Amino acid sequence: MELIVNGLMLKSADYKENDKILTLLTAEKGKITAGIKGVRKAKAKLKFAAQPFCFAEYVLSEKGGRYTVVNASECESFYDLRTDINKFYAASAAAEAANALTYEGEDCREIFTRLIKTLSEMCGGAESRALISFLLFALGGAGYAVTAENCAVCGAPLHGLNKLKFDMDTGSFTCGECGNGAGASRVTYNVLRMVQGKSCEQDFITPDGEKRALRLIREYFSYKLNASFKSLSEYIRLI
Ligand SMILES: [Zn+2]
Repeated sequence: MELIVNGLMLKSADYKENDKILTLLTAEKGKITAGIKGVRKAKAKLKFAAQPFCFAEYVLSEKGGRYTVVNASECESFYDLRTDINKFYAASAAAEAANALTYEGEDCREIFTRLIKTLSEMCGGAESRALISFLLFALGGAGYAVTAENCAVCGAPLHGLNKLKFDMDTGSFTCGECGNGAGASRVTYNVLRMVQGKSCEQDFITPDGEKRALRLIREYFSYKLNASFKSLSEYIRLI
């Protein structure tokens, strides 16, 4: 049986001599894995379809619940993401998070649409803000929302306070006196609010703010998923 899906290539692994196994995030079938034959040969016609961030219409054949890519036509290559190393790692971090936070068999339409939009934004402009915004969205969708609101314990506004904490268990900020979190910076709190379109203290939006916010997100991701977040670590090292 043949079917056509709109898919984004999240991850590939070598298989046999010339083949690959792709992890595709699709609008129609959620996250799937599909084999693709011969793409490691220099002149393979479908080589592009196994490249990072390839967004294409994939034609799949299905047999006994296993998919094989038999054809593909590219919708968007996001070429700029492959020529700028910072953008490449930011996009890799978005793809890695999308892979880690979705499961086969569930509807992935929202995260699929959001990831395509994020990759376009990264091509056209500053990639770090687009990445933070996507990671917050993807974590929230998986039940690991990060909330940068009033103190999650006593309800006091956190603007104006120097000592804040972030609680990894609840994904929320508290004032210095409440909760069991570890110390968190006022800059991180404000950058997360800014990215979410909320009011923030402009004096605490510093040039290294996005990097600090990404560090917190990386720790939180690792804590929740019990896994390292390799491409985000690489991106943080680069910026
Ligand atoms: Zn409090």
